[in-house]
Amino acid sequence: MKREFRELLRERGRTELPRVLLAAAECAPLSKTGGLADVVGTLPKALKKLGIDARVITPYHRCIKDKYASQVEHMFYFYTNLGWRHVYVGLERLELDGVVIYLVDNEDYFGDKIYRGGMPEGEQYSFFCRAVMDVIPNLGFEPDVIHCNDWHTAMLPMLGHTQYPGQIQDRAKYLLTIHNIAFQGKFGFDFVQDMLGVDAKYYTPEFMELNGCADFLKAGCVFSDRINTVSPSYASEIKMPYYAEGLEGILNARHDVLTGIINGIDKVTFNPKADPTLPARFDRGHLKGKAACKKSLQEQMGLEQRPDVPLFAMVTRMTEQKGFDLVACVLDDIMSREDMQFMLLGTGDERFEKFMAAAERRYPGRLCAYIGYSETLSHLVYAGSDFFLMPSRFEPCGLSQMIAMRYGSIPIVRETGGLRDTVTPYNRFTGEGNGFSFANFDAWEMRDTMRLALECYRNDEIMHGLIDRAMQADFGFDRSAEDYARHYIWML
Ligand code: ADP
Repeated sequence: MKREFRELLRERGRTELPRVLLAAAECAPLSKTGGLADVVGTLPKALKKLGIDARVITPYHRCIKDKYASQVEHMFYFYTNLGWRHVYVGLERLELDGVVIYLVDNEDYFGDKIYRGGMPEGEQYSFFCRAVMDVIPNLGFEPDVIHCNDWHTAMLPMLGHTQYPGQIQDRAKYLLTIHNIAFQGKFGFDFVQDMLGVDAKYYTPEFMELNGCADFLKAGCVFSDRINTVSPSYASEIKMPYYAEGLEGILNARHDVLTGIINGIDKVTFNPKADPTLPARFDRGHLKGKAACKKSLQEQMGLEQRPDVPLFAMVTRMTEQKGFDLVACVLDDIMSREDMQFMLLGTGDERFEKFMAAAERRYPGRLCAYIGYSETLSHLVYAGSDFFLMPSRFEPCGLSQMIAMRYGSIPIVRETGGLRDTVTPYNRFTGEGNGFSFANFDAWEMRDTMRLALECYRNDEIMHGLIDRAMQADFGFDRSAEDYARHYIWML
């Protein structure tokens, strides 16, 4: 055990590291629609290396049944009450890479989509929260900390503390991680009362009411022992109305237990030294392979074969969150004035997809808009590009900028959330920095920052320094896991 942890434990009169149960709607590689699944899949493995027994509880989704049924071991089943409904709860157990994963089975709720949307989704995850609460005493594993993620599991602390007094569920400490505050699980109070039997006294602004709705995420913020988001800057930002989506009141009130822990990336999947999807491999000191990747990207995407031309890239959901309206505003200005290429890999809002498809026709051989989702191509785009553009309006953490840096593509980002915490802007006086950034959500500021990057591109020494520092940055998950471990211990 790390000395720091031993000392922290001693301050709390404990000798053993906490046992942790992570509850989440998805867990990679079993089920995945976004970054949440990666965190839930990777964190327990990294915690195990630190000596922490962390297990996962997640729904037994159809997609998991289809792939893993033969490896799953049935533990037990019972019926529980979901309001007036008497519903089946099966508990299955799976061990993956040494991590125990408990799977909550109910074909009616998890027989098709991970997220059904609207009230059906509210019912799916009300059921999941009830099932988690009811299985805990029978797991043979008493968690000290229950780690909830986003609104789908944010009702657990409230249920534990108000409906299971004095029991394991009440004694446990709760950490709530907010991966994206834009999704809060808002329903009519009647619905929540009918599902989970929440007492009417909690339907007030001090507890779970927000703008006339019962808000699951708000309940989580009120009843959990600690709250964290996925970057320190986003943790500060969500105390402001612009970012908080109505939760600024409760988050300010609980500022003393609100922190940010930056996510990491999977250093094995994203490794330019050994990436099997690339035509050539490279690392910090040996960038020949990167030039070969650029050549291959240009060739495959119909861009002019020029090693010397700066290539800007985006791999993204094409939405306003990702700052796509800024790109749409200044793309023509910059493409018409500068000698550069632009590569986009993404899908999203139809208006942005159409805009980019039209831009491709205006700049043949210089701009490629690949509208689609391709994991393999994304690796080549990261490896073959010189600059990676990410002008987000808000960004809880952001993984793409970290992946880009690992592949020596210099990020150009807006200073928000995790982008601000991972990219240090280039300083022409000290020569420090591993990317470029701009402060305001403003298209012309973005354009000027791209121009500064173009200027630097013409100077080999600056460019090599930037690439070297970007590739050197350590965004592995071990650092995040240590931070989570500290949080768990603080809560004991
Ligand atoms: P998000 O808010 O979309 O989760 P992140 O930067 O945290 O943004 O993570 C996005 C992840 O999805 C990155 O790994 C990125 O490479 C990947 N990605 C996004 N769009 C595409 C696409 N069209 N094709 C392949 N990968 C994509």
